[in-house]
Amino acid sequence: MGVPISQMWTVASYVIGQKLKGNKRYPLVLMLEPLFRCNLACAGCGKIQYPTDILRKHLTPEQCFQAAEECGAPMVAIPGGEPLLHPQMDEIVAGLVARKKYVYMCTNAILLEKHLHKFTPSKYLTFSIHLDGPKEEHDFAVCRDGVYDIAVSAIKAALAKGFRVTTNTTVYNNANPEAMREMFDTMMGLGVEGMMISPGYPYEKAPSQDLFLHHDQTTSLFRNIFKDAPRRWKFNLSPLFVEFIKGRWDLECTPWGSPTYNLFGWQRPCYLLQEGYAETFQELLDTTDWSQYGRASGNPKCADCMMHCGYEPSAVSQTFGSLKGFLATAKYTLLGSGLTSPVGKTRTGKQPVSVSVTSQEPLAGQLVQLTLPGSPHQPVDPALVGPVAASNGDSSINNVDELA
Ligand code: SF4
Ligand code: SF4
Repeated sequence: MGVPISQMWTVASYVIGQKLKGNKRYPLVLMLEPLFRCNLACAGCGKIQYPTDILRKHLTPEQCFQAAEECGAPMVAIPGGEPLLHPQMDEIVAGLVARKKYVYMCTNAILLEKHLHKFTPSKYLTFSIHLDGPKEEHDFAVCRDGVYDIAVSAIKAALAKGFRVTTNTTVYNNANPEAMREMFDTMMGLGVEGMMISPGYPYEKAPSQDLFLHHDQTTSLFRNIFKDAPRRWKFNLSPLFVEFIKGRWDLECTPWGSPTYNLFGWQRPCYLLQEGYAETFQELLDTTDWSQYGRASGNPKCADCMMHCGYEPSAVSQTFGSLKGFLATAKYTLLGSGLTSPVGKTRTGKQPVSVSVTSQEPLAGQLVQLTLPGSPHQPVDPALVGPVAASNGDSSINNVDELA
């Protein structure tokens, strides 16, 4: 199953409508963060390092619906924290679906099988499963053994019940392109609808700062990952965004395209940076100095960012807002999303640099290192998610929500 035609039509007609109205800045995907607590503590995560009193809080369903209606984006992504730790997540999802929002609920899947009965399959609802590689790579990335197997089991269960399921992969500088390609094959074999993949952002708060990719490393790595990609791989990415992360298409960030709403309000300027909050979406649009953001701005915080939340809306806007973008998208789609196009120059005009491909052996070594006491990795706080979830390797991990 691919993305439903109705969803493609909704998004295309929404973007064209915004263009016809002359709106330069409009939201495409609301990034709704109802809570920050999580039952994992991944080394590259910049979302869970809040004081306990913040981690205990969450948005009410009404606050979530108000945010969705206020910004009007046709799609709503619910990242985290872990959304399934929210006691009313089923109510939030049902309310957004009733408002005809295309909802992508991002989850590490630890609790998905247990909670599946609370949700109803719908063309408006997709479970986006966090998977950062095949078994060894994923368990390393999330700093916990056994999570990959739980996620695969949850994917199978959700697909069997008729849910839309996609995967969501963040790539760091220790990524092994061959392992990524192996995961793509496995996921397509399981029957997921599509895969989303994006380079990680160097969050200041992330415990492992040496994991993040710089711009030219990103483009080189993605060219390796997508090299001679078979057509059976389906990505939940615009063809122009795929070309962008390969360094073959120029995009500028449009952070207002994925506005973020969370416990503090409308986050300025984007999902990744926290430079203040606005009380309303309109205030966010009107009072943010957007010229200070994006790679062309020279802001060092944006220099290495190629995240989908900043650049995917730009790709969609170019696809439906310019003849050049539309024709390029058509060409790349016909050629298999441009995955076979010749190597070009990067945005900076330099030839792509090569990136080293790590082997399996040092990866396993780093896994041990990351879990040593005193490492930068933050352990999961049992007081927030329950002692069972916080303990490593416990097979009864699904009890976690009982204490959430
Ligand atoms: S699953 Fe990992 S990356 Fe996602 S919110 Fe939890 S700790 Fe962060
Ligand atoms: S380039 Fe990245 S960090 Fe900068 S505003 Fe855009 S999404 Fe945010």
